[in-house]
Amino acid sequence: MSDARLDWEAACSAVDRARSILIVTHISPDGDAIGSLLGLTLALRERGKQVTPAVDGGVPEHLRFLPGADAVQPKVSQSRWDVMIALDASDEARIGDVGAVGLAQASLVINLDHHPTNTLFGAVHLVDPQAAAAAEIVYAWLERLDWAIPQTVATALLTGLVTDTIGFRTSNVTPRTLAVAQRLMEAGAPLHELMVRTLVSKPYSAIELWKHALATVQFSDGVISGVVSQEALKQAGLKDATDGGLVGLLSSVAEACMAAVFKELADGRVEVSLRCKPGFDVSQLALELGGGGHAQAAGATIDGPLADAQARVIPRLIAHLNGRCQHVRTVGE
Ligand code: AMP
Ligand code: MN
Ligand code: MN
Repeated sequence: MSDARLDWEAACSAVDRARSILIVTHISPDGDAIGSLLGLTLALRERGKQVTPAVDGGVPEHLRFLPGADAVQPKVSQSRWDVMIALDASDEARIGDVGAVGLAQASLVINLDHHPTNTLFGAVHLVDPQAAAAAEIVYAWLERLDWAIPQTVATALLTGLVTDTIGFRTSNVTPRTLAVAQRLMEAGAPLHELMVRTLVSKPYSAIELWKHALATVQFSDGVISGVVSQEALKQAGLKDATDGGLVGLLSSVAEACMAAVFKELADGRVEVSLRCKPGFDVSQLALELGGGGHAQAAGATIDGPLADAQARVIPRLIAHLNGRCQHVRTVGE
C-alpha cells in the first residue's frame, strides 16, 4: 500500500471511551518501536488511562535509559482490555506472544504503523507509509487529541524519529518530520543526547563482532553482503543476535546499491537485513521472503543454514538491480 489509511475519528473516540488499554509493538524492538510504545503509554497515563505496555522480552538494554522503560512488561497474563494498540508492526505475527494474547482478549484493535507492507490487521487503522517513523503518527494523534506533550513523552517520540531516520538522513524525511522534531525539542526532548546514545555510542563488543563479520564481506554486481554467525556472536561475548550496526556500515559503501546482512539465530534460522539506495526497493523481496519493511530498509527471517540463505537471497538482489547500479543520479533526480 502507498496511500495512508487514517481512521482518526474512530481512533480518538476509542481511546476516549477506553479505560484499560494494552499497547504492543514489534518483536526485536528498535528505537521507533520502544519510543512509540513509551511515548503513547506515558501520554495515555497522563489522561488517567489504565495502560499496559508490553513487548516479548521487554525493553532491550540499550534503550532502558528512556523514561518509563521499567514499566514495560516482557509477558502478559490473560486479562481483558477495552483496546489494544499495535505500534510499528506490519502484521500480526510481528507483535509476538503478547500481541497474540491482546488479539484474543481486547475488544478493539488499533493498528498504528508506517510500513508500506502493512496487512491492515485490526479494526481501526492509523497506517501512513509516508510517515518516517511510527512515532511521527503517534505525535499526529496526540496533536489531534489536543493533549499537551510532557518532556518524557517528547523524549520517547524523538527517539523514534531519530533512530528510524538514522539522524534525519533517510530519503523518507519530510518537512513534516522536521517540524515534529522541532516541536518535540521545544517540549524538552534532548536531541543531541538521544543521537549520541542511540546512533553514535556502541559497546566494544560490536567492534569485536565486526572483526569476525568483516572477514565474510562479499561485493559483486552492486550488492555488498556479510554474515554474523552464532560463532562470531559467541566470540564477541554477545548472547542476542545483533549485527552491531554492520548493515549500516555496508550500505555506506559508495559503489554498492544494495546491502544485506545474514544473522544466524540460535535456532538455526537466519534473519536477513536488507538496505538499498533510493531508486531501488527491497520491501517486495522481503515480503516474498515472509518478512516486510520499507523501500530502503526491510528484513525477513528465513530458513538456514547461512550458506543456503545467502545462495537464495543474493542472486535475487543482483537480479533486481539488473545492471542498473552503474547509473549516477544527479541531485534531486
Ligand atoms: P532491520 O534490518 O532489522 O533493521 O529491519 C529493517 C526494516 O525491516 C524494519 O522496518 C523492520 O520493521 C522490517 N523488518 C525486519 N525484519 C522483518 C520481519 N521478519 N518481518 C517484517 N518486517 C521486518
Ligand atoms: Mn521498527
Ligand atoms: Mn518504524
